[in-house]
This record gives sequence, structure tokens and C-alpha cells, in this order.
Amino acid sequence: MADRLEVLDEEWERGLAIVAHPDDVEYSAGTAVARWTSEGRHVAYVMVTRGEAGLGDDVPPAQAAAIREAEQVRSAEIVGVHEVVFLDHRDGMIEYGLPLRRDLAREIRRYRPELILGLNRHETWGGPSFNTADHRNVGLAVLDAVGDAANRWIHPELVDEGFEPWSGVQAVCFANSPRSTHAVDVTGFLDVGIASLRAHEAYLAHVGTDAEAWLRGGVEGTGPRIGVEHAVPFEVVRP
Ligand SMILES: [Zn+2]
Repeated sequence: MADRLEVLDEEWERGLAIVAHPDDVEYSAGTAVARWTSEGRHVAYVMVTRGEAGLGDDVPPAQAAAIREAEQVRSAEIVGVHEVVFLDHRDGMIEYGLPLRRDLAREIRRYRPELILGLNRHETWGGPSFNTADHRNVGLAVLDAVGDAANRWIHPELVDEGFEPWSGVQAVCFANSPRSTHAVDVTGFLDVGIASLRAHEAYLAHVGTDAEAWLRGGVEGTGPRIGVEHAVPFEVVRP
């Protein structure tokens, strides 16, 4: 059996997911979000792009953005998330740098989360398959933006915009990381997680994912690592 994981501390009330694309949360941690919101925690999502490069050659970006934005909003609602922010960085071309850090720090100051949810920022998913630049750049920028959000002298224009510093982030949890350290019991929430992923109807049709097989395999493989039926793993980094 795979190594044990620690159970993620759940002494928090406000969570913020920050990911590159519509579908990034649903492919990984949607079942955990469903559990958290069912317990009364507030979770919001920030999408760095609208996923406009994700539907293939036949669907131009403007059309794809509208489809993917609507699918993301629906999938969030299914897991009890009613605020989805779309930033306007370009899908497939997200650049790590101060503009991205500033945009993420602004959302951290706006939502004032104790827990941030992200997606794997490493070069691979654990095997030979390469992780994309968008995921790597956003993951690194999330970590830096946590520090930026806490310091009024970094991106000082944010204070002028009315966003006071926020230093309350306790943990950044990266889903689908090859270096997972913790897990969340999601037993009983797989069905709603599958429904949330299936809301990405056009995207799943394009990439050919079987939502149930994908998510079931993940949670069944992780559950025993914390002694439960179903769990979602995270790599936890603390500021
Ligand atoms: Zn993605």
C-alpha cells in the first residue's frame, strides 16, 4: 500500500481556489470542495484564464471562452460555490511575473482566505507526463502572492484600490501533486464531485475523459492512505 498521508487540518472557514483553467478544480479537488461547503465553509474560485484555448481547432477562442466560462460556473454551483472570478490572462500563455502576482494578491486580499487550493505546480504529474507552463506558473505565483498579499509595500496600488493586506493564509494545498503530504476524507461526496466534473460537457467531449472513472480511481486510491473509503490528496505548503 502507498504511504500514509496526514489528515488535513480543518480549522478554517474561508477557502479560495486559484487555478489556471476552468476544469482544474473539478479534475482534482471538487469532491473536497463539496464536502467543505456542505459543512458551511465559504469557498470561492479564481480562474486565471477562461480556458479559451481548450476546445480544439474548430472552436475559436471567443466562442470557447463563453462555453467554458458557463460550464465552470455550473460546475462550481454543483459543489456549493457561487463566486467564480475570471481573470483575463491568456490560456496557454500565462506568464509568471509581477502582473500575475499582483492579480492573485488582489483576489487573496479581496476574499481573505485561510486556506488556498491550487493545482500541481511541479514539472510532471509524477510519471513521465509533463505538466503545462500555465499550471507551473500559476502554482508558483500563488505561493508568492500569499506573501505579497500580506505586505502593504508590495503592489502598493492594491491599497489605493481599497484592498488592505491579508496575512491570514494558513496553508496552500496543491491538488494532483506528485508530492502529496495530506488528504481530506471525501467519503459520500464522490457523486457530487463527478456531477461537477461532468458539467464541463464540451471540454470532456473534446478531451474524451470518463469523469466517473477518473475521479473514482483517484479517491479510491487515496482513501486507504488515511484509513477511509474515499479521500483527495494534497501537497500542503505553509507560509
Ligand atoms: Zn488546467
